[in-house]
Amino acid sequence: MTAYKVRKMGQKWSGRMALALVAGALSAQPALAQDKAPLTAHEQMARDIYRDIIAFRTARGQQQVPAMVSYLVDRFKKAGFSDTDISVTDYDSEGEKTQGLMVTYRARPGSTAKPIVLLGHMDVVDALAKDWVRPPFSLTEEDGYFFGRATMDNKYGITNLTSTFLRLKAEGWQPSRDLVLVFSGDEETGMVSTRAQAEYVAKNIDPAFILNSDAGGVALAEDGTPVAFQVQSAEKTYATYELTVTNPGGHSSRPRADNAIYELAEALRKIAAYKFPVQATDLTRSYFATAGKLTPGELGQAMLRFAADPSDSSAIATLQADPESVGTLGTTCVATMLQAGHAENALPQSATATVNCRIFPGVGAVATEAKLKEIIGNDNVRFKLASDVTESPESKLRDDVKAAVRYSIDKRYPGLTILPYMESGGTDGMHYRTLGYDTVAISGAAMKASDMYAHGLNERLPVASFYGGLDHWYWILKKLAE
Ligand SMILES: [Zn+2]
Repeated sequence: MTAYKVRKMGQKWSGRMALALVAGALSAQPALAQDKAPLTAHEQMARDIYRDIIAFRTARGQQQVPAMVSYLVDRFKKAGFSDTDISVTDYDSEGEKTQGLMVTYRARPGSTAKPIVLLGHMDVVDALAKDWVRPPFSLTEEDGYFFGRATMDNKYGITNLTSTFLRLKAEGWQPSRDLVLVFSGDEETGMVSTRAQAEYVAKNIDPAFILNSDAGGVALAEDGTPVAFQVQSAEKTYATYELTVTNPGGHSSRPRADNAIYELAEALRKIAAYKFPVQATDLTRSYFATAGKLTPGELGQAMLRFAADPSDSSAIATLQADPESVGTLGTTCVATMLQAGHAENALPQSATATVNCRIFPGVGAVATEAKLKEIIGNDNVRFKLASDVTESPESKLRDDVKAAVRYSIDKRYPGLTILPYMESGGTDGMHYRTLGYDTVAISGAAMKASDMYAHGLNERLPVASFYGGLDHWYWILKKLAE
């Protein structure tokens, strides 16, 4: 679905951009040392997996996810995972043949703790070789970066989770609870596999909680200083509406009193002028309380004042003027596309605008549509919901998960602030949250805002970030399932 492709562009990590511009929050040094040292056996294995899976063009229309699944299954089997602990499922995602993969790392006998589910997605947003400087489906290491489609989103996550499982298995480790990898095959498009996997997980695994590799991570300032470890704990609800006005039309030399374009334009002006109510939750207040300390100047002050008093109107005005902050204050709706008329010398018979909303958790698409209709106040403007809507609540950052993240992060960046945030976009996580599971995204990557090219041209991951994050899941799983 086009809507889904458009929706994903540039959303992920947007919450961290403001933070990443701030320097000097902590004095810890980024983990660069491994960059030049000879690779350890584990680093080499992870790099090989990374190289091999980036070579699969797992974009919509290429039907390559099954080939990537076969490759991963082979890796898991060779590492000693048994057939019964590996499951591959076919999905038809709006005509695209794709697959989902689940791998269970069995708990030692007698274990009673509920399982942990770990998420990643194997599909990618497509990339056209002619537009890229380097071949997108081949791993290139150059100037301190790994280049290639999904070096970040999300084949780094898949590589990291997979290599961690293989490493732990090779060490003979037995967890105290089942650990289950759940890799989806169409997260970037229809999310058919995601929805089916989420239902399967709820029914058959019923985990204690879920960890996602597809968002969150260490935000670095432009000088490489770590600013915060971001934990994606909530996602806004995505909803697109098509607003249409129709009219009998006629010859443009004989204008009539009503006109589809004018009526639609008037409706859009009302949407432009309207601000949805400002909302605050414990999550967004604590986000601003922490982000405010890390953000200099008036913006940081406004964050702190809003955190202390979400009715502070001057703080609200400052935050609403900041594109990185406005989405955290409440629901937003904005016109994104227009289509109207059929000839330059004819009165328009139809005018349609696309309005994209990012709905604050708990508000709902139905209430949002009703509010838009109310402010427009014209029944001639007809609404059509043009996207799938998945509403999901905020997730708790559980104490045990926070302690495990703390443990892992302290090994790389001692004392780094842990910062839960709400994302404006969509990941697999929302389908698990909506079924009642606390789901947080805690990628091991460390990135500057200027290095974020997910979904775009010349996607890259700093080499130091790749190797520096390879122990991330290892320590977290050890802590949660030792
Ligand atoms: Zn992703």
